[in-house]
Parts: sequence; C-alpha cells; structure tokens
Amino acid sequence: MDFRLSDELRLLRETVRRLAREKIAPRAAEIDETGEYPEDVFQAFKEAGLLGICHPEEYGGSGLGTLGLCLAVEEVAKYCCASGLILLLTKLSTSAIALGGSEDQKQKYIRGTCEGTRRGCFCLTEPGAGSDAAGISTRAERRGDYYVLNGTKCFISGAPVADFFVVVAKTNPGAGHRGVSVFVVDGGTPGLSIGKVERKMGVKGVPVSEVILEDCRVPAGALVGVENEGFKLVMSSLNSVRPVVAARGLGLAEGALQYAVEYARQRRAFGRPLSDFQGLRWMMAEMAMEIEAARWLVYRAALIVDEGRVGREAAPYFSIAKAYASEVAVRTAHRALQILGGYGYMKDYPMERFYRDARQLMIVEGTSEIQREIISRAIVDGTLNWL
Ligand SMILES: Cc1cc2nc3c(=O)[nH]c(=O)nc-3n(C[C@H](O)[C@H](O)[C@H](O)COP(=O)(O)OP(=O)(O)OC[C@H]3O[C@@H](n4cnc5c(N)ncnc54)[C@H](O)[C@@H]3O)c2cc1C
Repeated sequence: MDFRLSDELRLLRETVRRLAREKIAPRAAEIDETGEYPEDVFQAFKEAGLLGICHPEEYGGSGLGTLGLCLAVEEVAKYCCASGLILLLTKLSTSAIALGGSEDQKQKYIRGTCEGTRRGCFCLTEPGAGSDAAGISTRAERRGDYYVLNGTKCFISGAPVADFFVVVAKTNPGAGHRGVSVFVVDGGTPGLSIGKVERKMGVKGVPVSEVILEDCRVPAGALVGVENEGFKLVMSSLNSVRPVVAARGLGLAEGALQYAVEYARQRRAFGRPLSDFQGLRWMMAEMAMEIEAARWLVYRAALIVDEGRVGREAAPYFSIAKAYASEVAVRTAHRALQILGGYGYMKDYPMERFYRDARQLMIVEGTSEIQREIISRAIVDGTLNWL
C-alpha cells in the first residue's frame, strides 16, 4: 500500500494550488455576492488545461483520472466551492458518455469539454422525482429515426451556461428502472429551453435551473448507450462522480479550518491569542481528525473509480466518502464560524459563505440519507468486502 502521490499528481496539485490562490481566492467573495457565473475562472481553467483532467488523452484530456480531478477540486474548493463545481461539471456532464457513449459522442462531447469549447450539464432530477430516480416522468418516444422528448427537469447545475444536456428519460414508462434511457441533446435544439433559474442559498456562481423539453426532436444517434438500459448507466455515472463531490467537501473543510486557525492566532481575548484557549484548540483538533479521515476516504474512492469499478459492488465506498466528506464540510464550517465569533457571521469574512456552500453538498448527487441507504443495503446484504 502506497500513500504517496505520483510526481505527475503532485505537480498537478501544485499548479492548481497556485492558480486557486492567485486567481480564484481574490474572486470568491465577489462571485458569491453577484451570483454571476465566473467566466474568467472557466477561462483560467481552460488556459491551464484543467478541463480534461480525468479524461483520456485520446479525447484531449490529461489522463490523470478521478484522483487527479479530486486533487484539483480539493485545492479550488479551499477558496471557492462554486469554482470547484465548474471543474466537477467536466465529469458530471460527460460520465454517462464516457461509460456508455459511442465513439462519435466521445469525440464530440468529451473532446469539446476537455478543449473548453463545450460545456455540459446532467439532467436527472424532476419536480416530482429527485431521490427516486426511477420515478422520473420525462418521456422519450421513438419515431423512426428520431426520439421526441417531453418533460421538465429541475435544479440542473450549469444548465443556463450549458451547450449540451445529458437527459435521462423514460423510453418504456411501464417498466420502472428497466425503461430508462439517456440522451445527449445539443443546446439550441428546438423544443429545449431553460426555465426558472433558482435563487439559492449558496454555491451562487453556478446557476441552477429548470430544463424544459417540449416535443424536442433528437436524432436516434443522441441515445447514449442502449435503449432501456440507461438506469445502470446513470447509477454508474453518479457513482463515478461522488468522490469528486466529496472532494469539494474536503477542500471546503480544509479552507475553513485554515482560515479559522489563522484568525485564532491573530485575534486576542483575555490578553491571549484565541489559539491559546484549549476549548478552541480541541475544536481545531476535532476538525483536523475528521478532515484527515475524509481525505483518505475520498482518495480511495477516486482510486476505485480509476480502477474501472463503478458498479453496484463499489457503490458503498463512494457513498461513504460522499456522505462523510460532505458532513465533515458542514461540521467544519459550523465550528470554524464559531471560532470567528461575531465576525464569522458577517459578510466581510468568508466563513458564512463556507457555511452556506457546505450545506449544498449533503443534498446533491444523492442526499446523505440516500447514501446511508446504499451503505446499509451493502452491509445487510453482506456485500461490503471488509465485513
Ligand atoms: C444546488 C443544487 C444543484 C443540483 N444540481 C443537480 C444537477 O445538476 N442535476 C440533477 O439532476 N439534479 C441536481 N440537483 C438535484 C438533487 O440531486 C436533488 O435535490 C436530490 O437528489 C434530492 O432530491 P429532491 O430534492 O427531490 O428531494 P426528495 O427526494 O424529495 O427528498 C426529500 C427528503 O427525503 C429524504 N428521502 C427521500 N427518499 C428517502 C429514503 N428512501 N430514505 C430516507 N430518506 C429519504 C431525502 O434524503 C431528503 O431529506 C441539485 C440540487 C441542488 C440543491
């Protein structure tokens, strides 16, 4: 067992760390304040060649895998969780295509993503179905060489700035999860439009909106993988992205602790720096223990993805990493805010933003409760291999 990162991964981490400090940290508060998508951050990622970290070189990526993407997202999320999501979307929007798409689809959408000429989003959730993914009602009907899509998706990250949409729909509505298929729809296709753009609590730099499909005609070639076998593809895609969501939590927690420690060293009360008080020192120790545990869960989960294991048998490991790291992010932001006292609550300091941003992580890509369902199912079934 080797806990050291390769030279390539260490170099990647250093590059992103520098970019995050120089270009993202100074923008983070403003991104949150305006709620505008940070095009400059996207362009900085593009110039630094960071939009294809996890994708193979044959499609224009760097071939550094999910672990590479997690390391990069961790560095970025130390300062700005929304910018971390921009990197995450390079995988979320393409994972179904990477796992089940045709060569043409990979050349078009994965290469486009790596080169920064295309931006995608992943459209699963609907007003009537979130956790219950098989309960979606968006319909795709085959008519000759076309499919016609009808339905409404909601809470779709990055949809207002996307130019391709990976849409999950029912091709056999009576067959439950056996009637689900995945499509990739180009922006500008007649019948596809952006609906309500949500006003949300945090992660404000990445807009979230409805995606409306009204008699939206797509060629048969827009089907990703095999008709009616899309549910497995969707679950595997979500599995493969969960370590990256967890990495956003890990980075956010590290950033919050780092800020709180620096603050506690400077701020004085009762004639001493706050960092002298045992009550706060132990709080910092708790945070550090949890962050360290989260780090290894996240890296291990990423390595499992990079071994090509993204199916049901590996699912609990992704769920453990995702649930734990996102909850560590929430707990750490909560404690770090407390260390800043009244200043933690004020917008002139970053902690209230960390606190709001962290809360998103326990909901997206499967809530904490759904992760516990996946984990407990594997425990009861006896399929967790360390039991
Ligand atoms: C900021 C943001 C961005 C998002 N981005 C995307 C995106 O890009 N693409 C996309 O498709 N979706 C996206 N989502 C949607 C997200 O994945 C869903 O909100 C999430 O899966 C939960 O679904 P829901 O909101 O319908 O809640 P529900 O499924 O209605 O759940 C409500 C509550 O019930 C609990 N619950 C549900 N079922 C069970 C159960 N079996 N056991 C125990 N508890 C249960 C849940 O954990 C939750 O606490 C985003 C959401 C947010 C907030």
